[in-house]
Amino acid sequence: MGVEMMLCPICHKECVVEQPPCADEHDVCPEWLCVECGAALFAGWLGSGSSSAEPAA
Ligand SMILES: [Zn+2]
Ligand SMILES: [Zn+2]
Repeated sequence: MGVEMMLCPICHKECVVEQPPCADEHDVCPEWLCVECGAALFAGWLGSGSSSAEPAA
């Protein structure tokens, strides 16, 4: 329990991510950290659907 996988753009693969302590008291905090490279990932990338994670440039 508590282990989440997320596609890390730094590692270019699905990595185990962990949730850092939230300072903003979100009900569901979107902040995650890749345990392999330490990159901050945001679950909102998956949920909002409006802004793409891949800019055309
Ligand atoms: Zn938060
Ligand atoms: Zn990573």
